Amino acid sequence: MLNLPRLQDVDVMPYIREGNAVVIIQDEMAKYTIRYKASKSKDGKVVFIGYRSGPGYKFKYLCYINKDGWIQLSEKSPLPANSSIVRMFEEYMENYPNLPMWMKDYYSNKCGYCGRPLKDPKSQIRGFGPECSKHIYIF
Ligand SMILES: [Zn+2]
Repeated sequence: MLNLPRLQDVDVMPYIREGNAVVIIQDEMAKYTIRYKASKSKDGKVVFIGYRSGPGYKFKYLCYINKDGWIQLSEKSPLPANSSIVRMFEEYMENYPNLPMWMKDYYSNKCGYCGRPLKDPKSQIRGFGPECSKHIYIF
């Protein structure tokens, strides 16, 4: 278990679908943790999914969710469809809220930009404070 708040009492799916969420997913068996960030495209038609596996606040583009709710890779996706980072996000979306035993989801209690504590539940799901979320570029 990570020392972070679990997402179990919150329905995070509307936030992901609106492109306004950071979800931290841990594979307890493989012992790795990935942060996924959902943010809406400028035209509002798709939700971009970014990821990061280390410290800092910069997310790399991973894939997108189209208007029908399907996860799509594009030419700019840096990882193949069978990579564990893509597959973990797919499994999360497919199984939510009944996640596999090995999968745990968390939200952030610190701003992904400035590191200050996030107290408001909506900010915790977004992963950024209200001010910092204006300044961060999508990826
Ligand atoms: Zn901040």
